[in-house]
Amino acid sequence: MPEAKVDKVIRFGVGLATAESLYRSFPALNSIPQLRRSLWPQFLGTGSATTVALTFDDGPDPKSTPLILDKLDQLGVKATFFCLGEMVERYPYVLKDVHDRGHDIALHGNWHRNHLFRSAKSIRYDMERGFDTIRSTVSSEPVYFRPPYGVITRPTLATAASLGLRTVLWGTWGRDWRSAATPASVLKDLKSNLEAGSTILLHDSDCTSAPGSFKSTLGALEPLHSLVGMNGWRMVPLSEHGF
Ligand SMILES: [Zn+2]
Repeated sequence: MPEAKVDKVIRFGVGLATAESLYRSFPALNSIPQLRRSLWPQFLGTGSATTVALTFDDGPDPKSTPLILDKLDQLGVKATFFCLGEMVERYPYVLKDVHDRGHDIALHGNWHRNHLFRSAKSIRYDMERGFDTIRSTVSSEPVYFRPPYGVITRPTLATAASLGLRTVLWGTWGRDWRSAATPASVLKDLKSNLEAGSTILLHDSDCTSAPGSFKSTLGALEPLHSLVGMNGWRMVPLSEHGF
């Protein structure tokens, strides 16, 4: 990111902090990995020194999630899927497949809506509906929550706590939602902040991304698995990440 743009984002963040609260500055600051790391270490999902956690957002999606699941089976890897309630309502059988293959099911909200400037009541309704939909579909309760766009507000945290959910963002991402993404670019972006204990953010659906972007995600999984192995780490779901 060019320095002038970084500067602008920081000033935007500071401006929001003055006008609202530090929590409300989070979305702007969140776009800069170094700031995210130093300001919000408790949400990065940093785990044990021998593992990296693999997580996917925005599914379940009948077009792409089964392909991701097949690749993970082939690699012998389990992951954590942050699901949208509205996608679960449409495609419950895909969520059941994710669950039956032994992956963690987590909550990403009922709808993919930014929590910034939304009322506490609206956020609560959204999260509770998604939570209930997942619970009634796979007969188990999600344990982790990741808000859309990584935007955390006070009502986000309060609702997560009341539902017994641990809020987890990520330590590194593949920027796999972009139309310009390729398997090589996804791997390169992941590597830029990948270290022992990292939590990785990818997407198993393009429902909020560029159409077909999941193909880049899919293509990056095998080389990512090799890279993690070469470092002597294991790729695991959040429930085995030791954090
Ligand atoms: Zn998302």
